[in-house]
Amino acid sequence: MKRKLLNILPGNLIRRIKRYYLALRCLFYYGNRYKCPVCNHNFRKMLPGGFDLEVIKEKEIIGSGLRENNICPYCQSTDRDRLVFEYLKYHTDIFGHKLRVLHVSPEPALYNRLRKQKNILYVTGTKYAEGYYYHKNIESIDLTQLHYGNDEFDMVICNHVLEHITDDSKAMSEIFRVLVKGGVAILQVPISLKLDTTYEDNSITGHKDREKHFGQFDHVRIYGKDYKNRLEDAGFKVLLYDPFERQELSVNENKYALNVNEKLYIGYKMK
Ligand SMILES: [Zn+2]
Repeated sequence: MKRKLLNILPGNLIRRIKRYYLALRCLFYYGNRYKCPVCNHNFRKMLPGGFDLEVIKEKEIIGSGLRENNICPYCQSTDRDRLVFEYLKYHTDIFGHKLRVLHVSPEPALYNRLRKQKNILYVTGTKYAEGYYYHKNIESIDLTQLHYGNDEFDMVICNHVLEHITDDSKAMSEIFRVLVKGGVAILQVPISLKLDTTYEDNSITGHKDREKHFGQFDHVRIYGKDYKNRLEDAGFKVLLYDPFERQELSVNENKYALNVNEKLYIGYKMK
């Protein structure tokens, strides 16, 4: 019924209703405990989010699972979006210099923030799936066969995508290929540090089975400690970014409501 009503309302009215709703939610959750670095609002708590699945708990998959303070009540950034944003803000030139940026399957909160940056050429793309609507700014792309030339981007942002792709080594090589020398890729994935080697099995194809084995119906693996080696095999120099190494942030305070166990995988295409 609710969906039917939304279908007959004009788009701008829906957007206005949503804006009011988010503004009200922002007020309701207002407080000084957390600050969302993406939208700059302050909250007493964030909203819970994530899947409460056995395999995620057993393998301690970082970046998955139910988190109590995960979603920003206003811009709806998740803890992993805020980690990426923190990195972009303090460790890249994305908010000041002319950069060519490819954002793969952009997260809505980051997309809404980055598309306003006039200094960057911001290209977004995802693999279209039947039955879904995509904004006209988001191109249809296949990460294993990108239609961009070599050295076309200064930065590729590709988070929580590789675990969906069967031939992930081809996808990593494609990201490496379209990056300019000296370019950087942010390559966040759900990862289990309990696994020395990545767990994957191409014979597991059913939604229920994938959920049971990999923690989500459309994941094809759980990355383990060898994720870094896989990126290196594609040509990247890999660094792990820990936001709490920055002096202003402390694990105890955790002002941005980050996942304290999560580090960001950054791949460089060296000169
Ligand atoms: Zn926010």
